[in-house]
Amino acid sequence: MKAKGALLRRLPSVDSLLAQAPIQALIDSYSRDLVIHSIRQTMELARQAIIESRPVDTEFRALLPLIEENLREMTRPSLRPLINATGVIIHTNLGRALLSVAAQHALLTAARSYNNLEYDLDSGKRGSRLTQAGQLLRELTGAEDALVVNNNASALILILSALAKDAEVIISRGQLIEIGGGFRIPDIMRESGAHLVEVGTTNRTRIADFAAALSERTALLLRVHASNFKQIGFVEQPPLGELAALAQAHGALAVDDLGSGTLLDTARFGLEREPTIPESVAAGADLVCFSGDKLLGGPQAGIIVGRAEAIGRLRRHPLTRALRVDKLTYAALIATLQHYRLDEATACIPVWQMIACPLDAIRERARAWSAAVGGAVIAGESTIGGGSLPGATLPTALLALDCDAPDQLTARLRRADPPVIARIADGRALLDPRTVLPEQDEPLLKALQSSI
Ligand SMILES: *Cc1c(COP(=O)(O)O)cnc(C)c1O
Repeated sequence: MKAKGALLRRLPSVDSLLAQAPIQALIDSYSRDLVIHSIRQTMELARQAIIESRPVDTEFRALLPLIEENLREMTRPSLRPLINATGVIIHTNLGRALLSVAAQHALLTAARSYNNLEYDLDSGKRGSRLTQAGQLLRELTGAEDALVVNNNASALILILSALAKDAEVIISRGQLIEIGGGFRIPDIMRESGAHLVEVGTTNRTRIADFAAALSERTALLLRVHASNFKQIGFVEQPPLGELAALAQAHGALAVDDLGSGTLLDTARFGLEREPTIPESVAAGADLVCFSGDKLLGGPQAGIIVGRAEAIGRLRRHPLTRALRVDKLTYAALIATLQHYRLDEATACIPVWQMIACPLDAIRERARAWSAAVGGAVIAGESTIGGGSLPGATLPTALLALDCDAPDQLTARLRRADPPVIARIADGRALLDPRTVLPEQDEPLLKALQSSI
């Protein structure tokens, strides 16, 4: 007891520490309040250690690095870059799509300079926000007009609120989905004041089911991409073209929520064929909505394309102002769309680069990792993720690490700097080079070397 009392008394006071030159230097680079806070925390930890009879060095020399480390921890941004070795390309929990280099530059340029976001350089007067993004979207999708909002969830809420409030929206029972994060189609219908009319059955819905449900109160026929699940077997949904024709004949609108929405034919990459955005437009959908940061490979956004009249009604709705995107999103989106126009999406947009990456190149990297840190190279599968192409996979090569406690290994990898996210299967930790950027090889191997 006595020894503990003596040790506790030997801990320096906050005031005496503040008088030390190295602490003054810390105050200069952080702030006085932060440094005091950090000293108190560090002293409290030391006090606890003494009380629990753990060895503690109470010398200033030993305490200073602890205070410095504590300050670094306290001021580190909580949004940290990490290495995605899961092989899930559009990983919803890890920030979804990465931006192309051109989009990154555009974003930075927009951030550091005033710009003509809402200014017409010819007239010197206020201009419209969407001009260039709108032009590109029209050109790439074949639609008459376009509107960009915060994300696809808000796109859907805007469409329902502006076009179907107090009116009926007909949807197939097979498409009453939950997207994730508790976003359920029936709930958002209720929120936006639209009345849901469910037709068909879970597995089969025909155009006749929609026709039978039409009434004077029908505002929209809605198709929603199943996104994160897949129905196989005895299933049927009416083609979009039939829905659009039925809507038109009845003075209603056909809306297609594509979810991911792709401008490229996914079949080119050995994947199942996804309906493309231009196909939905060509099939006659009045409005088509999709995310900016799924298969499009751009910033988070909800993009709505379609008939000028319908987009005009959306644009005039007050929610549009509340859901609008900022200059950074426009900058990154315009740069992303340019890649499609220049036919360089697979060369420049990370999502497509990863999808298009040849298996040989991936295997080569897995072998290099294995040569550096051990482990076996095995065949496996990467997934697209982000509610795109449910169940679709791409053949890949994985670094497989055998160990007694793979969950402990993956936990150590998560604590690395930058953190590395791996997955576990059959008692092994697995790392997929497909989603690891080439410049991340070095930090990845460092993390592996100190974690294995
Ligand atoms: C992902 C998805 C959404 C939501 O899009 P966010 O951009 O995440 O808001 C809406 N509908 C479908 C069908 C989706 O797959």
